[in-house]
Amino acid sequence: MEGPFYAKGLRFSCSRCSACCTGEPGHVFLSSSDIKRLSAAFGVGEQTFYERYCRLIDLGDCHAVSLTEKTDNSCEFWGDEGCTVYGARPVQCSSYPFWSTVLASEESWNEEAKSCPGMRNGDLHSRIAIEEALYARRAAGIIRIDRDDAKLPRKLAINRYLGH
Ligand code: SF4
Repeated sequence: MEGPFYAKGLRFSCSRCSACCTGEPGHVFLSSSDIKRLSAAFGVGEQTFYERYCRLIDLGDCHAVSLTEKTDNSCEFWGDEGCTVYGARPVQCSSYPFWSTVLASEESWNEEAKSCPGMRNGDLHSRIAIEEALYARRAAGIIRIDRDDAKLPRKLAINRYLGH
């Protein structure tokens, strides 16, 4: 049958192992719509949310905005009961594991599954559902701050990227 290796769907249900929210240092990159949704969930302005919970990550040609981490490397929003912002979580989180890098080939899917017990188990996601998650992340994008703007004071650095 023609089509991607996931044409008949893929199985995934989060096992709540916490591996992708805790453990090794990592990045949860944000789009402007992520910041809008999360700040609304907290009932604070987007600027306030950025100042409290975000950091800039140097990507070489630009800077991206990521959630901060606690000192044990867990996500700022990881709590005893799991993700404390689950309903408003970033698209990077809600679209996992249906990322372009993971779906690049069956080999990359199987490689990722070695560190995620929820993959290859649980609910069957159709090709359409998988591609909706894939395109949702692509459409949302991430905030990319010009190198020169990243040198500005924090408030100025983010303002223009939030559409203010
Ligand atoms: S926002 Fe929630 S789902 Fe995403 S990494 Fe943090 S705790 Fe995990």
